[in-house]
Amino acid sequence: MSEATPAHHSYEEGRRFVRRLYGPRIIGFLLGTLCIGGGLWEVGAPQWVWALLALHGFGWPHLAYAIAVRSRDPGRAELRNLLLDSFGGGVWIAAMNFNLAPSVIIVAMQAMDKAAIGGPRLLGRCVLAQLAAAVAVAVLFQIEPQVILSGPVARLASAPLLFIFPIMVGLTAYQLSRRVRQQNRELAALSRTDGLTRLPNHTAWLEAVEREFARAKREGSSMSVLMIDLDHFKATNDKHGHPAGDEVLRGVAEVLQEALRLHDVPGRYGGEEFGVLLPGSDLSAAEAIAERVRRKIEWASFAGDVKATASIGCATLDEKDLFAASLVARADRALYAAKAAGRNRAMREAA
Ligand code: GH3
Ligand code: MG
Ligand code: MG
Repeated sequence: MSEATPAHHSYEEGRRFVRRLYGPRIIGFLLGTLCIGGGLWEVGAPQWVWALLALHGFGWPHLAYAIAVRSRDPGRAELRNLLLDSFGGGVWIAAMNFNLAPSVIIVAMQAMDKAAIGGPRLLGRCVLAQLAAAVAVAVLFQIEPQVILSGPVARLASAPLLFIFPIMVGLTAYQLSRRVRQQNRELAALSRTDGLTRLPNHTAWLEAVEREFARAKREGSSMSVLMIDLDHFKATNDKHGHPAGDEVLRGVAEVLQEALRLHDVPGRYGGEEFGVLLPGSDLSAAEAIAERVRRKIEWASFAGDVKATASIGCATLDEKDLFAASLVARADRALYAAKAAGRNRAMREAA
């Protein structure tokens, strides 16, 4: 990244950046114009200076917006505008003969704004631009840099900027951080969801099993697990194509959700294998659910007319179990027994 932060990766992102700054710049410049007006009043500035201030304060935000949205790289154009904001601030600080209150407030508000938008890098550039502008104008117009302690007019005119602008920047920062928190939540949920079936993925499902395992152990309640594997699914893919195979997987996930109770947790274990966590179910209850699931899959048609069957292994919590993994492994063994016994059937773990 060679450009000043923030980096705008796309044209659209750059345009959003420009649009986001339009309103705040208008308000900031209104308040800033009032603040600078107080300083100009106290040095008895000539009329043409007042005219320039009005032009700059009321016109520049709209000109800056127009330039940036029309640019081929709006993000970069907006960064240039921010630099010009600070340059303008420097010009007016010198023009006010460095009148203390408005000068300090302009410097502080512009610094806060730039730090919030672009971090230390943009802040550094903008402070330099502001300083350069102030020095240039002071030299050009032979303004003696002297500290004028501000009178009541300059102090009063500075107050609105001092009060309102920090609240604006603070609210914007709050809004952004809220959006980031929301997006983090969405990302976390996404990273636990299988993209094809929308079921919990391998990691999320195993975690659910582990949690329920710990709870069942603690409370002495029962729990069971089903492992489901579609039969001859390779042949299904070969015959109907992988998109149809995907459709079958999505459909089986729907069948699972319909067939199960609200507190049961289906998950995509991997490939064409699914797991089901059955809290509170003993082995016979699990077997009954497995049989119901098996039948529903057998009866269903997917992607038009594609049929599928599944083999299912059932296992239940044993008080000798030390790890949730041993429960899953037993369900897996029962699954392979169901495959060996001819597929399209549910089998319980060996006693
Ligand atoms: P078996 O009855 O012994 O389980 O036979 P099978 O063909 O189902 O078993 P195998 O494990 O050999 O093949 C599983 C197939 O599942 C292979 C793979 O192409 C397919 N598969 C796994 N994940 C996906 C997926 O996300 N989409 C599709 N379309 N196919 C998948
Ligand atoms: Mg299979
Ligand atoms: Mg398999």
